[in-house]
Amino acid sequence: MKTSYINGSFIPSGDRVLTNINPSDTSDVVDQFSRAGRAEAESAIAAAVSAAPAWGVSNPQQRFDALDFIGSEILARREELGALLSREEGKTLPEGIGEVTRAGYLFKFFAGEAVRIGGERLESVRAGATVDITREPVGVVGIVTPWNFPIAIPSWKIAPALCYGNCVVFKPAEMVPSSAWVLAEIISRAGLPDGVFNMVIGPGSEVGDAIVTSKDVQAITFTGSVGTGATIAQQCAARMAKVQLELGGKNPLIVLDDANLEQAVEVAIQGGFYSTGQRCTASSRLIVTEGIYDDFINLLAERTKALRVGHALAEGTQIGPVVSESQLEQDLSYIELAQQEGARLLVGGNRVEEETEGYFLQPAIFTDVDNSMRICQEEVFGPVVTVSRVKDYDAALAEANDTPFGLSSGICTTSLKHAEHYKRHAQAGMVMVNMPTAGVDYHVPFGGTKGSSYGPREQGRYAADFYTRVKTAYQSAG
Ligand code: NAP
Ligand code: MG
Repeated sequence: MKTSYINGSFIPSGDRVLTNINPSDTSDVVDQFSRAGRAEAESAIAAAVSAAPAWGVSNPQQRFDALDFIGSEILARREELGALLSREEGKTLPEGIGEVTRAGYLFKFFAGEAVRIGGERLESVRAGATVDITREPVGVVGIVTPWNFPIAIPSWKIAPALCYGNCVVFKPAEMVPSSAWVLAEIISRAGLPDGVFNMVIGPGSEVGDAIVTSKDVQAITFTGSVGTGATIAQQCAARMAKVQLELGGKNPLIVLDDANLEQAVEVAIQGGFYSTGQRCTASSRLIVTEGIYDDFINLLAERTKALRVGHALAEGTQIGPVVSESQLEQDLSYIELAQQEGARLLVGGNRVEEETEGYFLQPAIFTDVDNSMRICQEEVFGPVVTVSRVKDYDAALAEANDTPFGLSSGICTTSLKHAEHYKRHAQAGMVMVNMPTAGVDYHVPFGGTKGSSYGPREQGRYAADFYTRVKTAYQSAG
């Protein structure tokens, strides 16, 4: 039985058991965990509070060494950890290994940042004085993560938190505790003082709530659903804690008449269906101009029908299972709803039987849609895309921006004029030209506008804005 990691030890917590099931084969139990609650969350917070003063002024070399050790071990074990990730979450093995690799590089990146933390010195406008602007750690950071990136999302929050001298209380999603546990086990051997890093495995309503509402946790970073995120933002505002939210998306991909057809179809399939469409950056709305529409839709349908849906660990699988029974039900209910709204189901949308019992779904394409339909406005979080037909670039841009979300936004075109215009006018935190809306680098900022994100950006050097506080110190020659 695996356990939470609190104040430098793995400790069992009561008799509640959490069973982690493989969504490709529900008879396969990946792991069992001792399920923690509010009391363990409070112990973890207390341990982090005790460790914070010393860790906040620790030598940057110590932080570099710890983060570099973690990154190196993750990279060395990427195949093993990738297989574990695919087994618990259902993305394909290459996707699992890719995600683990990204996690390793995230730790390497922030190892380097730890020895580059600097400030600024300016002359004061008052004679003989100078002004120093420095960054200090925030204190204790609470990290709450979703199930769709079991190691990358925890890594892109834990690595910068530790890099800038913060202590961490981390709550992974109960759906995917195995990758989180292995990550914590690696971190436990990285030479960090007890209490600097803690992981508590338990329900969001107990462990997550205890972390978010604790007066001793100075900052909360959350990725997940809009509903939970909105509650967390209010709770943090009430006690004036820093908060950063990464929420959903309904990301558009525009395909213009002048696009390279082969490339556009590949970009649409990768962005819409890979990782089973379970990415906040997935392109779920394809917006296609009328000159290329018929050719695009025919090739897209042909390629989508040929996608191999199956066991995440099987050779040749392109689309793994949906993560859980309840997520599958959500996907199927949206597929039903879209048809009731009048959309035409062109391809897929049906449950697929495999040798093993799992949550397999054939990727679905809807045409004849109107952007005001719920299927075009609400995040499904599954392998489901809509395709709409528009007159020209201006109509495509207007439709792309007609959404409450604004995470990622793509365009396929060979026109420099339209590509440049789109980079400026797409209402999104990330814009992709001739590249899938999903799939981003590890060294540059990640985040959205409108309803997709709240608070400072994650990743890259911009992560410092969330994980540090700025101090301005004046000094006169005296
Ligand atoms: P969620 O319910 O928002 O959960 C995200 C994390 O928050 C989990 O660790 C969860 O814990 C925790 N949590 C739940 N209630 C909490 C509370 N009251 N206080 C503090 N923490 C709490 O999202 P989900 O169940 O993972 O996914 C639901 C939907 O969210 C998906 O269908 C999808 O639409 C969206 N989603 C978006 C993203 C994204 O990257 N934008 C990622 C994943 C999901 P437990 O689950 O362990 O109880
Ligand atoms: Mg699982």
